Amino acid sequence: MENLIDSLKENLKDKGYKLTPQRRATLDTIIENQGKHLNTEEIYDLVKEKCPEIGLATVYRTLQLLDEMSILSKLNLDDGCIRYELNTNENDHQHHHLICQKCNDVIEVELDLLETLEDEIERKHHFVIKDHSVKFYGICSKCK
Ligand SMILES: [Zn+2]
Ligand SMILES: [Zn+2]
Ligand SMILES: [Zn+2]
Repeated sequence: MENLIDSLKENLKDKGYKLTPQRRATLDTIIENQGKHLNTEEIYDLVKEKCPEIGLATVYRTLQLLDEMSILSKLNLDDGCIRYELNTNENDHQHHHLICQKCNDVIEVELDLLETLEDEIERKHHFVIKDHSVKFYGICSKCK
């Protein structure tokens, strides 16, 4: 993860920003909670443990900034809040999410599996696919 922090530092510097302790704490929190799909308030509560003086507005702006820089991506699970997750490789397509309708657990599918569909869409519509957001709704193995 040090590579990610280094490239983020470079990236921020190019854009005239600094990796302040608050920004660093926000990013660290997301890295430590990878796969949990936390929303802004949940991230704020965790960052506060490291940085008690931090305000919600600072966390909110940091998340926006990291999203603009493609360090994070936004995730909408249709529950009325915006969640964030780490973009481990910005050239990769997003992984898919399986959402359990009983326990609301979110399971990640790392394989893309959409290459055939993407090829066909690109050919038929002369459209270049950069990414996608795929959610499957159903019942998880624990709730079956
Ligand atoms: Zn894809
Ligand atoms: Zn379940
Ligand atoms: Zn995810």
